[in-house]
Amino acid sequence: MTMKSSEGAKPSPWDVVVIGAGPAGLLAAGRAAMLGARVLLLEKMEKPARKLRITGKGRANITNMKPLEEHLKEIHPEPRFLRQAFQAFFNHDLVALLLEHGVETKTERGERVFPASDRAWDVAEALVAWAKAQGVTITRHAKVESVMIEEGAFAGLLVTRMPSGLSEKIEARCAIVATGGKSYPATGSTGDGFHFAETTGHRIAALRPSLVSIETRPVYESTTGLNLKNVQLTLWIDGKKHSSEFGEADFTAKGLGGPIVLRLSRKIVHALAAGQKVEVTLDLKPALDLPKLDARLLRDTESSNTCGQVLRALLPSQLVEVFSRTLGLTHAAPTALLKAPMRKQLLTLLKELRFEVTGHGSWEEAIVTAGGVSLKDIDPRTMGSKKIENLYFAGEVMDLDANTGGYNLQIAFSTGWLAGEAAAKKALGASFRQL
Ligand SMILES: Cc1cc2nc3c(=O)[nH]c(=O)nc-3n(C[C@H](O)[C@H](O)[C@H](O)COP(=O)(O)OP(=O)(O)OC[C@H]3O[C@@H](n4cnc5c(N)ncnc54)[C@H](O)[C@@H]3O)c2cc1C
Repeated sequence: MTMKSSEGAKPSPWDVVVIGAGPAGLLAAGRAAMLGARVLLLEKMEKPARKLRITGKGRANITNMKPLEEHLKEIHPEPRFLRQAFQAFFNHDLVALLLEHGVETKTERGERVFPASDRAWDVAEALVAWAKAQGVTITRHAKVESVMIEEGAFAGLLVTRMPSGLSEKIEARCAIVATGGKSYPATGSTGDGFHFAETTGHRIAALRPSLVSIETRPVYESTTGLNLKNVQLTLWIDGKKHSSEFGEADFTAKGLGGPIVLRLSRKIVHALAAGQKVEVTLDLKPALDLPKLDARLLRDTESSNTCGQVLRALLPSQLVEVFSRTLGLTHAAPTALLKAPMRKQLLTLLKELRFEVTGHGSWEEAIVTAGGVSLKDIDPRTMGSKKIENLYFAGEVMDLDANTGGYNLQIAFSTGWLAGEAAAKKALGASFRQL
């Protein structure tokens, strides 16, 4: 490895250097350049925004049109931290920016916004084109190895260029760390920014996979792949009811997944890490309360000949097996067996199918990282570090995460925009004011 010396070199051509060309980095770089800063955006992967390209199952749920207060309710652990960032750049701004760059959007159920083309790729390409149009220089295959600090201020980056392996120091007035979290590492988000933050004196809130599937006991082999709509999942921690979610769930080879499981997963992962007993119960008939469901069972029992017929009228075939086994009934058993005690057992299974939660999915499959650079060390008005001058953070690298629904991407876009603006102002000083 060789290293270029900066001694005697010309002054740096860069006002702002941004680490990571994900949604946060692209917005940060573009906004800083828009304000007149000379901006270098470094990305270690072959293509910018690899993760963005696979979001929303390739459709990119880019934001959510719910009003600010509703938006904040979906964000952890400190939604108020984002007020200024959302004031600077919010859902309507994103939609307008994309439209200006040829990407029409559509709003679906739950106010979730997608590109009209259903192609996340189009969003990524438009944002790259927008950043370039603002004057950003994007350098790919450039992996930032470390952040240098001198006298409490940002002093440069040590960067390895691939495939040559050559190292160089890159200087700029300000730097923005937009390296994302640790989940889906194949997309380039390998948690490098946590290391940069920690080695420069920032606190890191414990990192945990979030929006992730869960492992359960029991696992019913026959149900793998089964998707259930309109069910309700309730989370129990140390025997106490915690919260419920209504919607869609999937049975997986190791347990449960799908939207309602993901929404409860943040709490589940934290509770497991704290050594608490975690259980979930699945209500397969949430539209019917116990008396109504009992009345329906009675009717079904009277109008059918066998237990198999009753169960098939209530359940998908994969669950009929599970229920028959649990109740010790054969399909051909006469409905006379479904008398009061057995019917009560069946009702409990239908309303409270219970699973112990034994684990959760890995970083490879988690949608986001909970935890990250402590918000205590970041100024919410600028996204600037409170520890190191001229250093800023944006996106998932910070201790912020949200539910599914487009909120995570909006966090990245908004914090990126604000960090870019603040870094440009800082780097340009008096000349910024003349803009
Ligand atoms: C499968 C999946 C689906 C998702 N779907 C949605 C969705 O529909 N809606 C939603 O709101 N959210 C979704 N998310 C979450 C969302 O993608 C992230 O929250 C968002 O991408 C975070 O943006 P970011 O810019 O902070 O980080 P990232 O998108 O992770 O980008 C960070 C970039 O930094 C680069 N980088 C890292 N380290 C270095 C280094 N040392 N040097 C140079 N470059 C570096 C990486 O290569 C990467 O390009 C999804 C996530 C996944 C995994």
